[in-house]
Amino acid sequence: MTKFKHKAVDEFELIQNYFVRSDEAPGVITGIGDDGAVLQPDSGRELIAVIDTLVEGIHFPDGTDPFDIGYRAVAVNLSDIAAMGGRPRWMTLALTLPSAEESWVSRFAEGLHAAAAEYQVALVGGDTTLGKSLVVSVQITGDVVTGTAIKRSGAQVGDQIFVTGTVGDAAAGLDLLSAGNPDSYLAPRFLRPKARVEYGQALTGIATAAIDVSDGLFADLCKLLDASGVGGVLQIEKLPLSTELRAMSDPETQRRFALSGGDDYELCFRAFTHRAGHSGIPARRRTRLVDAGYRLDRADSDRRRDVRRRHLDLRQ
Ligand code: ADP
Ligand code: MG
Repeated sequence: MTKFKHKAVDEFELIQNYFVRSDEAPGVITGIGDDGAVLQPDSGRELIAVIDTLVEGIHFPDGTDPFDIGYRAVAVNLSDIAAMGGRPRWMTLALTLPSAEESWVSRFAEGLHAAAAEYQVALVGGDTTLGKSLVVSVQITGDVVTGTAIKRSGAQVGDQIFVTGTVGDAAAGLDLLSAGNPDSYLAPRFLRPKARVEYGQALTGIATAAIDVSDGLFADLCKLLDASGVGGVLQIEKLPLSTELRAMSDPETQRRFALSGGDDYELCFRAFTHRAGHSGIPARRRTRLVDAGYRLDRADSDRRRDVRRRHLDLRQ
């Protein structure tokens, strides 16, 4: 296809110079360069496919360092693999660029490869095109031992829900970035999120339901509860908040960031308390499925009704 009609740099050169890596990756029979990648799955394992698209101005602010865009595009996908308890294996990249600026692509590729190396996922193909705005789609294939993928649907009444790390930091970081005030802890929580891939794999056989926190703890927890057909009420006073988040905002703002901020990419999961406690997983207890929901009244009346309904369901 002649996608690069008015090219500043040749598409082939861009791919060759910035995306092809010489090192061999496990399971890659044919990587970048052919019409399709040929991949060899391990026997006894199932594949998990995920994809996420980042659009400039929507998913990250205009003018974000291309390194961060590249890193983040990989990390947000790895987070979905992590939430399934999967092992990342291969990825493809669809890149739409408003202009073929080599310096931009070079820095973007650095960030992308940094995340790929950190989590051992190989770039095996993609598509590069010019377009009106900057759009980055990464697709990752991971795998799990057959039958062990962790789904959203295994939570039961009386369970405790856990979360890895702290929530609300990424939203606070984005807020600071938008105000032109990059903070040394919170802003990187948005720009370079850590996918909880190791946790996810450690949760296999321990967690019966898990989701990654991408839309905000409240929305994502609701998805997990809905998928499991159970209800629950969040104990807001037990939200795990970082000292950095507590230091930069009032309690109302902290709660807003923590509940509906999104972009945390922590894992929210259901586990038996005693098993989670002895698994060596450094998760913090966040909420039990018990009554404390009235505090959500101030946030959103629809949610309040939702929470009350869940609460009633729980009592049945
Ligand atoms: P085709 O026209 O068959 O789709 P392309 O010329 O678009 O092939 O791409 C050539 C090769 O480079 C393919 O193997 C493709 O997967 C790979 N590729 C294209 N863009 C990227 C990219 N941004 N990152 C990694 N691989 C890419
Ligand atoms: Mg082709």
